Amino acid sequence: MKNKGILVVVSGFSGAGKGTLMKRLVSSYDGYALSVSMTTRPMRPDEEEGVSYFFVDRETFEKTIEAGGLVEYACYCGNYYGTPKAWVTEQLERGRDVILEIEIQGALKVREQFPDVLLLFVMPPTLEELKRRLAMRGTESAETIGRRLHRAAQEAEGIEQYDYIVVNDDLEECTAQMHALIQAAHQRPACRAEFIEEMREELKKLAKGEV
Ligand code: 5GP
Repeated sequence: MKNKGILVVVSGFSGAGKGTLMKRLVSSYDGYALSVSMTTRPMRPDEEEGVSYFFVDRETFEKTIEAGGLVEYACYCGNYYGTPKAWVTEQLERGRDVILEIEIQGALKVREQFPDVLLLFVMPPTLEELKRRLAMRGTESAETIGRRLHRAAQEAEGIEQYDYIVVNDDLEECTAQMHALIQAAHQRPACRAEFIEEMREELKKLAKGEV
């Protein structure tokens, strides 16, 4: 029997290296599907429509909310970001583990709808490293970087609500650790409910001498 995939939320401060980490996870291991969010934020030069995000205007975003087309959405530094529902549901049904790279408000909303979601929080090894990565990206103004650091300080208050933190020091090690955590999550009783139920039924029959 094929198990359903599990939903994994990955959050972390802007500049913590989530994007690189996610790409490495998906290219190193089978069975993962990376959700592409919808956003009203302008596209960065290194981004691609439908790959990095679905870039839309506010009106389209608000219509999608009204139509119930999003699992969750949030406003982050003045722009909307949201997770398209249909694709996520389909991938889970197919048995793939779906990764949502989203911020904390969205993460907590996902947990209300999917109590078995695995919540991971990516941390940079040091704050110096975070500042360096943000500046190196070179795609944002000093003002935007400032807003993102301010937001990081707010997000840091909610880290305890996550299941695990992963420290993104060495990319390979961090990718392997994240994969191991997701594999372990597959063995939680809630994710093996059908297997457990089958075993219980068989056990009852065995106890009654029926088999
Ligand atoms: P960025 O502009 O750097 O691509 O993303 C800004 C923040 O929005 C990041 O923390 C990212 O994880 C988050 N984000 C991206 N997509 C979504 C989404 O669909 N929903 C929510 N709630 N946050 C998202």
